Amino acid sequence: DQDVADYRKSLAIRVSGFDVPKPVKTFEDCGFSPQLMNSIKKQGYEKPTSIQCQALPVVSSGRDIIGIAKTGSGKTAAFVLPMIVHIMDQPELEKEEGPIGVICAPTRELAHQIYLESKKFAKAYGIRVSAVYGGMSKLDQFKELKAGCEIVVATPGRLIDMLKMKALSMTRATYLVLDEADRMFDLGFEPQVQSIVGQIRPDRQTLLFSATMPRKVEKLAREILTDPVRVTVGEVG
Ligand code: ADP
Ligand code: MG
Repeated sequence: DQDVADYRKSLAIRVSGFDVPKPVKTFEDCGFSPQLMNSIKKQGYEKPTSIQCQALPVVSSGRDIIGIAKTGSGKTAAFVLPMIVHIMDQPELEKEEGPIGVICAPTRELAHQIYLESKKFAKAYGIRVSAVYGGMSKLDQFKELKAGCEIVVATPGRLIDMLKMKALSMTRATYLVLDEADRMFDLGFEPQVQSIVGQIRPDRQTLLFSATMPRKVEKLAREILTDPVRVTVGEVG
């Protein structure tokens, strides 16, 4: 409606896609559990950022998303919070112990940040988060993954290594996040990203975040996302 249209215009928010869920104005609007609301308040997050207002209802509804917004806009929580809900919604965990949420990020620093942000919200639910990136012992990572986890945060190269070593199975994976997709491509991870996506069931939910959308990233998005909602915040490319 007009209210929503004016608000988006004032923040340079552009949204496209069919049947786009209405944005939220508050975390209360998201229908999160009291426990998750508690964790959000504990972080000092009072209200959702612009990208979160648009993305949280889209992702919570199970839709694929392309989120384009500059660094510091709060993209991490936009995919971490619905991921926690997605995992809690799964039926009782079977023997199969592979991750449900798989997050790929371009560098170990970024992967580590996402790991920390995920842990903040996952802890209260006993959801296990594993970080998989270079600079740590492969054997230790192998053992940790073998023990099982619900979320894996990884750089593409090391995740491929772990998959080759059969440290984890992707059969449970239904929530895939490609964070900073443009940087992953800049760093030459396109083949690894393609390989990882190819190992996850096609009926997964896929989220792609990027600061810019070069042609190669557009092409990937067209290939791996299903009827995505596209949310752009700010004057970005
Ligand atoms: P991006 O991935 O878009 O670069 P981040 O997810 O790293 O941004 O978030 C940037 C900073 O904003 C982080 O310190 C994060 O803790 C904080 N943040 C995220 N969401 C909120 C919010 N709703 N309210 C206040 N701070 C937030
Ligand atoms: Mg980020």
